[in-house]
Amino acid sequence: MKIYNTLSKSKEEFIPLEEGKVKMYVCGPTVYNFIHIGNARPMIVFDTVRRYLEYKGYEVNYVSNFTDVDDKIIKKAVEEGVDSAVISQRYIEECKKDMAGLNVRPATKHPLATEEIGGMLDMIKTLIEKEHAYKAADGTVYFRTRSFKDYGKLSHKNLDDLQGGHREIKVAGEATKEDELDFVLWKPKKEGEPYWESDWCEGRPGWHIECSVMSKKYLGDQIDIHAGGEDLIFPHHENEIAQSEAANGKQFAKYWMHNAFLNIDNKKMSKSAGNFFTVREISEKYDLQVIRFFMLSAHYRSPLNFSAELIESSKNGLERIRTAVDNLNHMLEGRNPQEATEKERELLEHTSEYISKFENAMEDDFNTADAIAAIFELVKFINTNSSSENTSGYLQTLKDTLVKYCDLLGIIAERKKELLDEDIEALIEERQQARKAKNFARADEIRNELLEKGIILEDTREGVKWKRS
Ligand code: AMP
Ligand code: ZN
Repeated sequence: MKIYNTLSKSKEEFIPLEEGKVKMYVCGPTVYNFIHIGNARPMIVFDTVRRYLEYKGYEVNYVSNFTDVDDKIIKKAVEEGVDSAVISQRYIEECKKDMAGLNVRPATKHPLATEEIGGMLDMIKTLIEKEHAYKAADGTVYFRTRSFKDYGKLSHKNLDDLQGGHREIKVAGEATKEDELDFVLWKPKKEGEPYWESDWCEGRPGWHIECSVMSKKYLGDQIDIHAGGEDLIFPHHENEIAQSEAANGKQFAKYWMHNAFLNIDNKKMSKSAGNFFTVREISEKYDLQVIRFFMLSAHYRSPLNFSAELIESSKNGLERIRTAVDNLNHMLEGRNPQEATEKERELLEHTSEYISKFENAMEDDFNTADAIAAIFELVKFINTNSSSENTSGYLQTLKDTLVKYCDLLGIIAERKKELLDEDIEALIEERQQARKAKNFARADEIRNELLEKGIILEDTREGVKWKRS
């Protein structure tokens, strides 16, 4: 299996640090608003990478943070006159709903920056002890960029070029730095901002240190894959490498994966440019499965332009797959189990051709566009080689194969059936039992399953209430 590594700018064979296991960290969103569909691109892409790694038999430890302390969160909290935790908690919940709608599985762990301050203080202390960081007169702690010899290795930038660039954008108040390239690890609080005690000043962490610390705590000093959108290569990921490698004395991540942008009119979709659609507003117009399908219809390293035509074509593509499954379901209705005949078994062997195509595409740096093409070939094969004359065993195998490979891309090929009230009640009861047995994973799974079907649960003092969204 080959992965394009931003570090070497080439496709490399994937060899995990520990056999059979993959440690993966994906930078998550800053939670001050609903996520937009640009933010959804890395979520969908790396969820698909995770699914494929698990299909290959790896045990994947997948960590993705929420940045819940940030200028934008604080600004919004001030505007609404509430605590910044109210804002971040609200949008974490909303983000999780969007993820469920996009069929993005919850991470093994979603750490919150504000709950990991202790680890950040420790790492900053270590960096100061090793003389990779220093405290400036106003209490700000800076990373001494030039002390880290490999700085620039990820973004392939040269320190002297950077120096020139920085001079132009030097901002007031940064005069206490030893060097213009130095970046903030810890900064003093401003009036009305959340803050924590530290040896240097009452303040809060810089953004970059959060990820270095959360990755270390949940995955260890060295990880296999670190990922995010390509705008994070510099400075965020470059700075993460500097902090982690300077503090831990080991290579941080082996493979660095970056998705290209989701554009609109060929410009990056972003909150600051105002040219965005939230996942929530899109969900009112389209089935979010169409959005997932659209995102995977291009290779993750190619820019993707959001347009009504492309969404329409994704909608048709998904419809073709779902119709094939509908037809198989129709042929299977009310049938008793039967074994496939000799001739059918021969036909079934042809499907392995499409599976190989699918696998080869995914093993070539997760080429989901080609993997989808292989699925369409399978759909065509199914449409021309199935009828109600076939045995149920044969038809069932075709259906299972199609559903399985779609599921590997996180695409739900089987149309959702409307949940009946009694099905919902039964699932809620199962969730209560799971919670009693402390099986929180199953309880969360049920909540997400229901969310996906538009059922929202509310835990109240009188018990669990539900409503259709
Ligand atoms: P942010 O909340 O801006 O830190 O972004 C969260 C994640 O979304 C990061 O991995 C970003 O690189 C990614 N991202 C933001 N905008 C886009 C976009 N237009 N296309 C693709 N990825 C994006
Ligand atoms: Zn990060």
